[in-house]
Amino acid sequence: MNEDSSRNTPEGAAFLDLSARHQDTCAAKSREQLQHLPQSAQRTYENLGTLLSLLDRMASCYWGCHGKEHVIEDLVGRAVGSSRAALRLIDFGHYDQALALARGIAEIGNLMWLFYIKPDELRDWIDLPEKDRRSRYSPFGVRKAIEAAGSIVPHDQTDYAWLCMIAVHPAPNVRPQAHNHHGIPTLGGVYQEDGQIECLTRLAWGLASVAGPAAKLALIERPRAEVIVEASIRVAEELPDSENENKVSQSSDDILKKSK
Ligand SMILES: [Zn+2]
Repeated sequence: MNEDSSRNTPEGAAFLDLSARHQDTCAAKSREQLQHLPQSAQRTYENLGTLLSLLDRMASCYWGCHGKEHVIEDLVGRAVGSSRAALRLIDFGHYDQALALARGIAEIGNLMWLFYIKPDELRDWIDLPEKDRRSRYSPFGVRKAIEAAGSIVPHDQTDYAWLCMIAVHPAPNVRPQAHNHHGIPTLGGVYQEDGQIECLTRLAWGLASVAGPAAKLALIERPRAEVIVEASIRVAEELPDSENENKVSQSSDDILKKSK
């Protein structure tokens, strides 16, 4: 540590304290700004909370345990945990990191959709040896299988590649946390409305895409499944981004029709 840096910028645990204080300040601002977001983003936040509440109960056998395999519940549980963590990261201004979690949820969403349209795939996915499962059910493999079945892909190649580029894989010319009109990079802990809306939208769409088919696949009572499907459709129909909205609405309408 040189004299200069010790005077101007804390190091060691003091730096970590400072970092946490920046995040807390950003979180307070993020909460305050919620009421100033466009109506669709405010509704998405509210709808996301309701869907998460339902999925939290589904994943934890709140309505009773069927005592059989919990594969669907466990995938939902992973999506719930990632969503809750992502919401905190959004509050903290760590938008890229929230998007990395949204990518994982999108992957579960595509997988769940494949299980829904081709139920035999679920058994194969469970029973295959790890190496074969990884290869056959890679994100690319799952997208191809959905396309081969003639269905719309909830998270298509373009969306998935964007999430990979922004949030996961190292890429040239991608500035960190640059969710603003001027492309100015930040390192987290700085509120950005564009980042907040983008992340909420991607997260909500990801979770809705998991919830609809999961509710149909899980061994839960039909009325509860219908409540979850309807909550996922509400999320989808009120998303801020119209392109996503159309895509989810088509998928969700399909689910709803088949569920009644
Ligand atoms: Zn159980």
